[in-house]
Amino acid sequence: MTASLPTDTLAACQRCDTLVNLPKLSNHQKALCPCCNTVLHSPKKHTLDKTFAISFAGLLLLIPATVMPLMGIYAAGQYNQASLFTCIVLLANEGFYFIAFCVFIFAIAVPAVRLFTAFYLTFCLKYTSKKPHLIVFFRSYHLLNNWAMIHVFFLGIIVSLYKLVDIADIAIGTGITSIILLLMCSTMLSITLDHRFIWQQLEQIND
Ligand SMILES: [Zn+2]
Repeated sequence: MTASLPTDTLAACQRCDTLVNLPKLSNHQKALCPCCNTVLHSPKKHTLDKTFAISFAGLLLLIPATVMPLMGIYAAGQYNQASLFTCIVLLANEGFYFIAFCVFIFAIAVPAVRLFTAFYLTFCLKYTSKKPHLIVFFRSYHLLNNWAMIHVFFLGIIVSLYKLVDIADIAIGTGITSIILLLMCSTMLSITLDHRFIWQQLEQIND
């Protein structure tokens, strides 16, 4: 006869696959793998409050990051500037539909849905009753986590600036500042969100 294990407290070590029954941890405590000392879980303080604030800030920053000019170029007596949105429109007008579609999906749509998912999830857990559809939202967040690629777009801007700085006068637009802040929010979201805590909250829906 096999004894049933308490699956809600089990954690698999990502390094050596050891299955560990996690003890209840307080803040500032960490659960380590008994075989390789890898950190299995470290509770995050005020995870709902921090994630709620950061995702809300990220959603607000999405608008200027999308529509404000990223950079301006003085060349041949002319000044041109472009935002993330106008870049997509220009790509589509030039016939690069697939690239325009990819930039829209990975630099705007996925980060926006990811931020909204984190915002809605933490809002409901903080202020309203826990509803079954929140599980779908959190699964979507996990899925989108790997496809938010605004940092790749930002890297492309940095490379463009480096290449263009010798042949034209470059003016940095306010859109760049918004994208940098948006990237910071996106990174901090990954740091502040305590996945185990959220799953524990969501599991109570089915109890
Ligand atoms: Zn291990």
